Amino acid sequence: MDRMKELVKILNKYAYEYYVLDNPTVSDAEYDRLYDELKKMEEQTGIVLFDSPTKRVGGEPISSFKKHKHIERLYSLDKSTTVEELLAFDKKINKDGEQYDYTVEYKFDGLTVCLTYSDGKFVRATTRGNGVEGEDVTAQVLTIKSFPLLIDYSGTLEVQGEAIIKLSVLDEYNKTALEPLKNARNAVAGAIRNLDPKVTEKRRPEIMFYNVNYMSDGSLSSQKECVEFLIEHGFKVHPFFKICPDINSVISAINEIEINRKTLDILTDGAVIKVNDFSRRKELGATDKFPRWAMAFKFEAEEITTILKDVVWQVGRTGKLTPLGLLDPVELGGATVRKATLNNYGDVLRKGIKKGARVLIRRSNEVIPEILGTTEITPDCEDVVKPEICPSCNSKLEEIGANLFCTNRSCRTRVIAKLTNFACKNGMDIEGFSEKTAGVLFDDLGVNSFSGLYTLDREKILDLDGFKDAKTDNILSAIEKSKNVPLANFIYALGIDNVGKKTAKDLAERFKNIENLKTATLETLSGIDDIGEIIAECIVEYFADPENVKEIDALLSIGVNPVFEEKVKAGVFSGEKVVLTGTLTDFKRDEAGKIIESLGGEVVGSVSKNTTLVLAGENAGSKLDKAKKLNVKIIGEEEFKLLIKS
Ligand code: NAD
Repeated sequence: MDRMKELVKILNKYAYEYYVLDNPTVSDAEYDRLYDELKKMEEQTGIVLFDSPTKRVGGEPISSFKKHKHIERLYSLDKSTTVEELLAFDKKINKDGEQYDYTVEYKFDGLTVCLTYSDGKFVRATTRGNGVEGEDVTAQVLTIKSFPLLIDYSGTLEVQGEAIIKLSVLDEYNKTALEPLKNARNAVAGAIRNLDPKVTEKRRPEIMFYNVNYMSDGSLSSQKECVEFLIEHGFKVHPFFKICPDINSVISAINEIEINRKTLDILTDGAVIKVNDFSRRKELGATDKFPRWAMAFKFEAEEITTILKDVVWQVGRTGKLTPLGLLDPVELGGATVRKATLNNYGDVLRKGIKKGARVLIRRSNEVIPEILGTTEITPDCEDVVKPEICPSCNSKLEEIGANLFCTNRSCRTRVIAKLTNFACKNGMDIEGFSEKTAGVLFDDLGVNSFSGLYTLDREKILDLDGFKDAKTDNILSAIEKSKNVPLANFIYALGIDNVGKKTAKDLAERFKNIENLKTATLETLSGIDDIGEIIAECIVEYFADPENVKEIDALLSIGVNPVFEEKVKAGVFSGEKVVLTGTLTDFKRDEAGKIIESLGGEVVGSVSKNTTLVLAGENAGSKLDKAKKLNVKIIGEEEFKLLIKS
């Protein structure tokens, strides 16, 4: 009983911070763990305390907003995390021996909003609140441009969707925000539940719709019809929508989501499985908290909180210092996390990072997770001290914008990072050259430049510890071989700040040789797709430094020969820049992309004035709209098939 009371108390505190303040102090995974513990105890004892969170949907509406009673109650979703739980759900749905279709959609991690229309006119937007009553957020939602104000429908209609902030929009916002937003869910909840609609507008939320909650006139009979109705009436619906004849194909669809979501620009925490047929839904009904005909499948958490023990500074190849957080070890997504990155000293200040604070970390595709912000600071937390000198070479640091730099070109750590990057696979691809090699060459032979690698003396290498004949000859021939290098690799090898593999490839394709790149202006560079102003500035700065230019000239005169080979691919898509959008029936998207590339086309991610063709599948959304606006040629799957046949 004591533990149950304790759990209820702490969960209610967390729920208040999450739903009312939009400022959680623990991650969802930690909340869910305690919630599950409570639920299990309730099931075992049969006791449910009066104020248990298992009885409630969400949080109470806050008084600063006008309250609004929903026409139809809004529910939360029951959740599962394993295939076994899904099979048990399926058993309950199909217990009479029939097999009902399911639908599978993304579970968007945002804030539920419910929009009311009266005789075709938008009248009100509300939050879900406690499911019965929500907050009137009409003024805030009106700042969103992507939903219709007028629709072709007479009678009363309530539609439901998830307000979200795209991850790219959040990143963009955080670049200049005085106080960065920790994650997309809190950011959107804070944007919609903000008394000042100007704040809402600045964060650029959108709504992904998934439900017709009430219609006074006519009726729908399935989720499929519901989604079609939403699309027909101009509501934004995510193109991923699967109808699955059985639970096995539900599981395949979930697996697909799990892979796709890594590249999605929207925060998702799982999939939602629904019974397609509305009459079966009616039979199944709902509990106090959730419908019995739907189930959320939640993916492994990507965020967790832990204590930041210390911050150490690392020197990179450009001399930039990066703070690295040392953490109280914590399990996240099946791995123990001990370290997490921060961007720079400015980032430490903006996120209010202190030693001893509880911090929220996120694991993305990167190897080292990122510290998103602090969730709890106690009086004995300590400030992170701004370093004055380089931790590697002790020279005085320079502060440029939000970053600290070691400007000593002979700084050991910096040179080793630079040489290792130069020699790596994406760079000059010098086989057998490791960080250790760079260290030995720097320490014992004083090699501190790229060109220094091409004038190494065989005899001197042989004198080094661990370098026998064969190893020496291998490394020398690998260095010699690297002279004939593709231009993109050469650009990558230079180690220009913020220029990764993809940007190096884009630059090579655009400029064709290093001379052209050297003299490229800021305008030309930032005009290239996917190259923003920050990257463009880094490139211009790099070539404005005479030392860098001297080093490139030295490499060229030694015989390094960066070559750009124009890929002449002939085919029906030659010269076309193609965007794929929507769901194709007979091809996976990347499959179609590969076909386009093999027939001479280039597949690009977003529609711009440079796009020449859009291949639109079912439920194509904003990319298709944009293509229409920009008058870009659009083809459907059938036309695509004819083209590739031809
Ligand atoms: P939920 O967010 O887990 O799931 C239900 C909601 O999913 C629905 O109400 C709907 O708004 C949304 N949804 C998204 N896509 C949907 C789709 N395609 N179809 C239907 N619905 C869709 O449940 P909840 O009740 O809103 O929140 C509970 C969760 O919130 C907890 O499991 C926990 O993870 C989190 N939480 C965290 C804290 C914290 O302190 N970190 C505190 C309280 C709650």
